[in-house]
Amino acid sequence: MSNLKWNQPEKLRALLAEVVSWKSMTLSEGERQFPAKLQAKLQNLLYFQQLPDQLALHEADFRRKFLTALYKHPNAKETICLMSHFDTVNTEEYGSLEPLATQPEELTKVLRENQEALPNEVQRDLESGEYLFGRGTMDMKMGLVMHMSLLEKATVEKWPINLLLLTVPDEEVNSSGMRHAVPILLELQKKYHFSYKLFLNSEPVFTQEPMDRAHYLYTGSMGKLLAAALFYGRETHAGEPLSGMTSPFIASFLTREMEWNDSFQETVLGETTPLPVTLQQTDLRLLYSTQTPYRSSALYNIFMMKRSAKEIFDIFESVAQTAVAKCNEAYKKICEKNNVEPIGKVQVIRYKDLLNYAIKKLGEGFVNDVIADIQYEEGWDEREKSLRITDKLMLQCQELAPAIVILLAPPYYPAVNSTGNELVEACTTFIKKLAKDKFNLEMKRIHYFNGLCDLSYVNYMGMSDGWSAFEDNTPVWGDSYSIPFEGMQRLNAPVLNVGPLGYDAHKRTERLSLKNAFEEFPVIMETLIHKISRL
Ligand SMILES: [Zn+2]
Repeated sequence: MSNLKWNQPEKLRALLAEVVSWKSMTLSEGERQFPAKLQAKLQNLLYFQQLPDQLALHEADFRRKFLTALYKHPNAKETICLMSHFDTVNTEEYGSLEPLATQPEELTKVLRENQEALPNEVQRDLESGEYLFGRGTMDMKMGLVMHMSLLEKATVEKWPINLLLLTVPDEEVNSSGMRHAVPILLELQKKYHFSYKLFLNSEPVFTQEPMDRAHYLYTGSMGKLLAAALFYGRETHAGEPLSGMTSPFIASFLTREMEWNDSFQETVLGETTPLPVTLQQTDLRLLYSTQTPYRSSALYNIFMMKRSAKEIFDIFESVAQTAVAKCNEAYKKICEKNNVEPIGKVQVIRYKDLLNYAIKKLGEGFVNDVIADIQYEEGWDEREKSLRITDKLMLQCQELAPAIVILLAPPYYPAVNSTGNELVEACTTFIKKLAKDKFNLEMKRIHYFNGLCDLSYVNYMGMSDGWSAFEDNTPVWGDSYSIPFEGMQRLNAPVLNVGPLGYDAHKRTERLSLKNAFEEFPVIMETLIHKISRL
């Protein structure tokens, strides 16, 4: 049909350039304004002029909003949720070209004229003219634009299935948009009497290794947890080092044990999680002093596939026990050599146990005030708040030192996987055959998306004791951070990610394949939705 606004390659390309130009870096003013601009764009569709209630903005946090747009066929019960995020990572790595980072057509031209400093494969892609560069082009405004085009076509052609476009902020930081969206998805389901058949995300293809040029689709997404530790030693003066114990001394043992520790590594369906690494290790003092540091902290990144938060936390605790055994042994030898009395033995304490101890000792009111005080600090993110709460409680319970307090910090992305689900398997086979027959495009399936995404929050596959370990040991839980686990369980539909091809997400060479984005991907997505509505 010729009266469609967004269905030709050149129209889609113009729409993408426009949506990319609505700069929307996570936690920026642009991210706040983006959904209203998108709403105005969708109001151009006759369908939403006639049914304005089905296009809505909803509150997330920090004055940010997410958008839902529902195409409802009068006789259809089943709904495909088309998911995307509209925030992007920052643009400072573009340097002097930063003003063009969200002007893809101009940026691509300028990069082509100034390509000497770029890697060879990027120069090749620039020369070929087959790529569009710019922040958000591949990750993931092309996915969103594709969903807009599908929604338009469905409303005009009256496709026999419901489509719910959902686009959210904050995916790149804490996924607060998606966590706020879960109850709204349940509300819409109730209000319009439908069920969710599939959560279809369109995050772009991520390379599995450097120089990887394969095209993937994903039937799940990897999970991630941040394991944190607070190290508590005993202060002394630098002139009397053996009268205390520094926290960096204790920390060095745990960090040595955690880094690249393969007891956290999982292999599922032939895929393996990356090894854990340290993301941060710092002293909690703010100024230089000759009093020795006795409080410091560390954050470790852990990926998972099948394991729950509880299982990861149990492994973390046992690794911490190994670390303190080595630490105590080394310390004992030093004391013997220097003929001094040890100040004590380092112990491992779970945050939950510290909290209970503090409540018993100081009273619930006092502990709640400590937590509320820290929550009041606007400049601190969820990680900083988690460590500061633990630190404040430990300051009041120094008789427990020397110690390592172990805890969990946001964000937590539970792993999700729909491999083996009948619908998802049918879709996977169908897409691979279609891509091969129609475009000679070889698409491979990956069971766990390695880029982390919001699909983690539309489904929860484990038992409630798996997440209670997270609730119990996350100091900001229930105040500034929560995950709607029960709602996620109720959504309970399979997940699939089919997105456009591009390279270098989060780098200044982020680029989208034009042929794939505007010729192959639209055909694959539309044919897939028709196929699903017949299944
Ligand atoms: Zn993304």
